[in-house]
Amino acid sequence: MFLNFCQTYLTLFAIIASLQVKIVKSLSMGEPIRNVVIAIAMEAEADPFVKHLSLESDDDFFPKTTPFQAFRGQYKNCDVTVVTNGKDDVYGTGVDNVGTVPAALAAFLALNKLDGKADLLINAGTCGGFKRKGAEIGDVYLTTAAANHDRRIPIPDFIPYGIGKIDSANVSNLASEINAKLGICTTANSLDKHDVDDAQMEQNDASVKDMEAAAIAWSCALTDTPHFGIKVVTDIVDGDKPTEQEFFENLGAAAKSLQESLPKVIEYVCGRSHEEL
Ligand code: SAH
Repeated sequence: MFLNFCQTYLTLFAIIASLQVKIVKSLSMGEPIRNVVIAIAMEAEADPFVKHLSLESDDDFFPKTTPFQAFRGQYKNCDVTVVTNGKDDVYGTGVDNVGTVPAALAAFLALNKLDGKADLLINAGTCGGFKRKGAEIGDVYLTTAAANHDRRIPIPDFIPYGIGKIDSANVSNLASEINAKLGICTTANSLDKHDVDDAQMEQNDASVKDMEAAAIAWSCALTDTPHFGIKVVTDIVDGDKPTEQEFFENLGAAAKSLQESLPKVIEYVCGRSHEEL
């Protein structure tokens, strides 16, 4: 009796929850994008774009206990918020807070602060590229999905949770417009890789590899916010040079390429509907 009641209650709850998701999504059909969050892990990657759009630092955007930074302003009738992960104070290193934990937290807090008003979140940054998928240094990629390659949980129900693949918003028109390639981004907390990572990255069918995209996609999924990544290739994952060496050799050129692409992206998405992207 009690079990039956619970089952009915749960079914009703599931129906109401699915209706609410549909209502949220149908409301945004065809409507112009007016509020964009751009999540960038590293300060050096964000700086030129913040200056380009004359965005102003908003010190009250994030809780004071976090290292995250927000820069806000208007572009073409669009509210733009650039979010960076700030510098590490917890371990006392002072380097950029790269990796999944700060990325997910900063993205979630930003979306929560905007209280459902964010129409789109763009994760911008650098990445490793796979030459077997046609990636070359300096290429600009827009993500079609993000997945994890270091969350190995060999228990059947947990395998898809560990991989955690989340589709990106469809941005194929934008990709043609800015001459970007499209591909899946695979994420983990290491700049380098282990043999076991290789197998999962291949299974994820990844074109590019980073340290944030899948985590940010998870925060976006919690809040039903459309999202995609724009990633510039600094190093070739399946090449012969060590990643760190190649990363530093190409960081300058990649940062420049990102700076050329980001303004074009914001120009294209602001005022257009999701369906047009
Ligand atoms: N030491 C560097 C930061 C390296 S962390 C510095 O201070 O300049 C690498 C950053 O670049 C992460 O944000 C990650 O998302 C991205 N990245 C670039 N190439 C990568 C690769 N091959 N694998 C994983 N992440 C990569």
